[in-house]
Amino acid sequence: MAPLATTDVDAAFTLSLPKIELHAHLTGSITPQCLHEVWTSLKLSSPDLLLEDPLELLSKDKAWNVTTFFPLFSSYIYTLCSTRESIIHSTNSVLQDFKDDGVVYLELRTTPRYSEGVSKEDYVGLVLECLDNFEGREAMPTYLILSIDRRNTASQAMEVVDLAIKYRERGVVGVDLCGDPSKGDVSIFKAAFTKAKQHGLKITLHFAEVPASSSELELETLLQFGPDRLGHVIHVPEEMMHEILRRRIGLELCISCNVQASLTEGGVGEHHFGWWKDRECSIALCTDDVGIFGSPLSNEYLLVAEHFGLSRKELVKLSGRAIECIFGGEEEKQRLGAILVRQEI
Ligand SMILES: [Zn+2]
Repeated sequence: MAPLATTDVDAAFTLSLPKIELHAHLTGSITPQCLHEVWTSLKLSSPDLLLEDPLELLSKDKAWNVTTFFPLFSSYIYTLCSTRESIIHSTNSVLQDFKDDGVVYLELRTTPRYSEGVSKEDYVGLVLECLDNFEGREAMPTYLILSIDRRNTASQAMEVVDLAIKYRERGVVGVDLCGDPSKGDVSIFKAAFTKAKQHGLKITLHFAEVPASSSELELETLLQFGPDRLGHVIHVPEEMMHEILRRRIGLELCISCNVQASLTEGGVGEHHFGWWKDRECSIALCTDDVGIFGSPLSNEYLLVAEHFGLSRKELVKLSGRAIECIFGGEEEKQRLGAILVRQEI
């Protein structure tokens, strides 16, 4: 491992730094402790519950990768958080965790899903209700992005977009493409993203996460959707990196997720953040799934300070580089700009 660079930054500083989180999956952001609480109350009402205690399951020293990571959601966390009570409890807990970590603007994303007694629309409504009722909402305005899963059919994708359009007034600001990058043909989602754009929704896409989802054809197809932001941008040919810069597309970089899941080679110091940081572009450091990877946003800022030698002043500037690509509108941009100007160094 490369020696850590010199910096005047410490954990107290990155915790107090006003931060903008733009790539956080709601379900992946639930802490093992919160999942344990949900599990405990489920176990009381259904003693025969076969699911393992999340504290046990998630504490195992597990090297997450594409084959172990996605089933964790589809066969475990979704089953655990499927009732109205557990959806509300876990969403509130996620909001509180981000606020406690010094996040001052949040865009959460989630794939509309259904369970017994909760339709996809009910689910979206429940999450939005939690955002509305959250007592810290003034200090941390939160918006919702609805995700299309790569395993969706074209009509399921359209259903997500229709829900996003329907709930725009209540705080849905964009549509995302996510899910197992080894699955699906992204070209079938063109009509859905076109419709989202026509209705004024913003677009963000998981982009070039693994080699299998990084063929030139796939990346070209995704760029044709006209994304406002891209997540991960790992296996991108250099020519296309310049094209991304030219189009002024915002970048959501999830360093701990990439390093821990071995999506990138090497450690934090070798992460492609190093390539983008000195370019003229909008960058947001993001957690992706803090419940799984255990590195809150304040720690992501600490890591880049330590591994890339960034000072307090440079971290304030870096946090501000996310403002340009938020989906929440001009007023929010001005509010965030003013907060960062006031930040003491
Ligand atoms: Zn993600």
